[in-house]
Amino acid sequence: MSKTKRIFYSIIVCSVGIIVDFVLSAVKLYVGLRSNSIIILSDSVHNFMDGIGLSIAVLGFALMTKDPSERLPEGFGRLEYLSSFILSVLLIGTGVYFAYSSIDRIFYPYPISFTWLRFAIIAITALAKLLLGFWFKYHNKRINSGVLKTAQFDSWLDFGITIMTLIGFSLTVYTQLRLDGIFGIILSVIIIIGGIKLFKENIIAILGDKIDDETTNKIYEKIIRHTYISQVENIKIYDYGIGRRTALVTVEFELGVDLNTIKTVIDEITAEIQNLFELEIKICIKGGRDERDKDKTPQKTEG
Ligand SMILES: [Zn+2]
Repeated sequence: MSKTKRIFYSIIVCSVGIIVDFVLSAVKLYVGLRSNSIIILSDSVHNFMDGIGLSIAVLGFALMTKDPSERLPEGFGRLEYLSSFILSVLLIGTGVYFAYSSIDRIFYPYPISFTWLRFAIIAITALAKLLLGFWFKYHNKRINSGVLKTAQFDSWLDFGITIMTLIGFSLTVYTQLRLDGIFGIILSVIIIIGGIKLFKENIIAILGDKIDDETTNKIYEKIIRHTYISQVENIKIYDYGIGRRTALVTVEFELGVDLNTIKTVIDEITAEIQNLFELEIKICIKGGRDERDKDKTPQKTEG
């Protein structure tokens, strides 16, 4: 999939999520207000924040279609990492807010008005989040994006939250326990832990994650297999966003290889690596002197 196509694809996938989130938020706001349940209201706020978060992600994706400029030679590719970072911050914020309102509810309990219709409506919203999670998971398989991964995690978490909300909501009616607030605290701890985990992942992506050794090793294997190449070293991969990765490689040619052959081999390697790993490759030639050089001034050109 081309870079531009991948971006438009992501925008469509996220837009579906935004619509679902805002609809769910409105439904929960209505039920929460009518039944006077803090956990349903918090859930509504949470879904609203999810929608805002995904909107930020869409904005980020839209900016990524812009071409690199003189000021930003590597383009906007890394914005995707920033978007998923913002999503994880929102997730933690929601958890903290949720915890606060739950504690408040334990100390200042309100009567909750429960009906089976409201129960059923919230059950449907839970199902919607479960399906939304599958939607993100399915599409993330195709485009592998931190944004979709975070959104998928959040959706399934929300499914769990809403199920617990339902349990808390119905139990509060039949028991005298203040389960509404207690369930809320348990849920907020789950949200905060999940948010912190994603936050760490995204911070690492922003700072520049270490490219997995596997890719580096594979690149090494591919290059060293070429004839006339005697050594491959210093493979460094720079990540400027998905589809904008650059590899720097130093190779050494066997002695006595003429310039034309070197040029052909370099072209072959470049094409091969770019196709296989979807990254740009810059090759430095080290040491390898050809016959003519040897006759003239033997020089060692580093890097
Ligand atoms: Zn959520």
